[in-house]
Amino acid sequence: MNRIFKGLLLASIAALPLGAQENQPNEEIEVVKVRDSIYMLQGRGGNIGLSLGEDGIFMIDDKFASSTPNILNAILTLSNASVQFVINTHHHGDHTGGNINLRGQGATIFAHENVRSRLIQVARDKYKQDIEKSAEDAKERGIVDDKLEQRRESAMARIDEELDLDPHSLPMVTFGNNLHFYYNGEEIVVFHVARAHTDGDVMVYFTESNVLQTGDAYVKDAYPFIDSKNGGSLAGYIAGLSRVMSMIDEDTLIIPGHGDIATQADIRYTLSMLTFIRDRIAFHLVAGKSKQEIMAMSELTDQFDQKGFGDGFINTQRLLESVFPEIEKKFKGKN
Ligand SMILES: [Zn+2]
Repeated sequence: MNRIFKGLLLASIAALPLGAQENQPNEEIEVVKVRDSIYMLQGRGGNIGLSLGEDGIFMIDDKFASSTPNILNAILTLSNASVQFVINTHHHGDHTGGNINLRGQGATIFAHENVRSRLIQVARDKYKQDIEKSAEDAKERGIVDDKLEQRRESAMARIDEELDLDPHSLPMVTFGNNLHFYYNGEEIVVFHVARAHTDGDVMVYFTESNVLQTGDAYVKDAYPFIDSKNGGSLAGYIAGLSRVMSMIDEDTLIIPGHGDIATQADIRYTLSMLTFIRDRIAFHLVAGKSKQEIMAMSELTDQFDQKGFGDGFINTQRLLESVFPEIEKKFKGKN
């Protein structure tokens, strides 16, 4: 098998919805009652929110494709109705992997317009990277072939035919800012939070139940992942949490992107943590300290590290690396 062709095969496998390649039928889904008829499903991947009622099932996020059977079994313990609507809070595979299966069950998938374009872009980038890598590998192994470059180019040109991205894994309905559902006896507001975790984030507020689901624009007791490659930013993350603070009250229950049910006090804490870290980095930058010096300052994160905020997906180093360029650009005018 020539290497380009092998690369294409690898690209096809890699482009499967995240999770479809993994077979973990025994992963556990935990059902948590949030309030009234709002539930949260925990387990591997992002938290799922559910509204159950006379109209049917309204679902927010759908973990990995391999999780779908367990998710549907967990839902069956609560209701015999089918999932009518699914909202994707953003494009990451641990929140959208189940789209293809839920759509197959008759659900309509909604997401911000950038979620759809990001999902397509991620698959295209992966395809291109795999072809480049195959070509590089061939060169490194000393394969001298006049046709190598030609084959690389023709593989690139076939991207639209070869891309293994099932359109049914993409949101069926996209929107720019807000959506309002009147469903299961309450108004459900879906609103876009610009450039926070990604550039396609939405949060979902159940107005009567007073429950807010944030996606990864808030995670409980952990440093946030600011995915700047996909349009996320610290400024947007802080603005998003500030907006949340203006909407909620002390009775609001929050389903975070990851972690347990949170409250207004938790949001306030993360918001003050992020502004503290931002302001301290800015202070030291303006005072002429180097990146290396600032990154080594334990005062930036000590109090949060002690609470375990760096023990999860984003450790302290990764958080600082992710926010530093943006703060440096703002306060020192660097690109
Ligand atoms: Zn995410």
